[in-house]
Amino acid sequence: MLNLILFGPPGSGKGTQAEKLIEKYGILHISTGDLFRYEMGNNTPLGLKAKEYMSKGELVPDEVTIGMLKNKVDANPDVSGIIFDGFPRTIPQAEALDVFLAEKGTEVTALVALDVPDEELVKRLLKRGQSSGRADDSNEEVVRTRISVYKSETAQVFDYYNAKSKSKLIPGVGTIEEIFERLTNAIDEACC
Ligand code: AMP
Repeated sequence: MLNLILFGPPGSGKGTQAEKLIEKYGILHISTGDLFRYEMGNNTPLGLKAKEYMSKGELVPDEVTIGMLKNKVDANPDVSGIIFDGFPRTIPQAEALDVFLAEKGTEVTALVALDVPDEELVKRLLKRGQSSGRADDSNEEVVRTRISVYKSETAQVFDYYNAKSKSKLIPGVGTIEEIFERLTNAIDEACC
């Protein structure tokens, strides 16, 4: 299986690139942010729980997120690979993912991280907020909290997989096509 972690701060372009990567590699896209937004839209207990955290720009607790992720993977047993977008965001999530994949006889192939300067992230997120209707993209304070949560809680996941020689840092500024080419070069080097 081709198991990719598409990594990077909020606003770094993960969603846009994931769309193109699933087309090229024919693998499943799992975005934990999209899954939470779906639950929120349906006012499920999980959605209401997630909303408490998402509206403030904080992370949803690990056990909730990991459980949801496992359910989604288990619901798609026949895929040839998965792009994990927005997951793992903490070291316990990364450890849980490794154990979970090992139980299935597979592993993370590579983590590809999009590198974008902070002020560019803020600009992109606020712009996206104007059209997406996402509450957490529309408020500058929440946007800045998400970037600082990324630095304090999530960035270590890059080092965790780097210690396993699986992390690659990709410049995330340029055209969508340029960034896509850098990503696919890095992925093809890691997997094929
Ligand atoms: P995203 O769409 O990936 O930017 O995620 C939006 C929000 O969903 C985040 O700010 C978190 O509140 C929540 N979220 C998404 N993925 C995770 C995760 N792996 N762990 C904890 N919270 C998450």
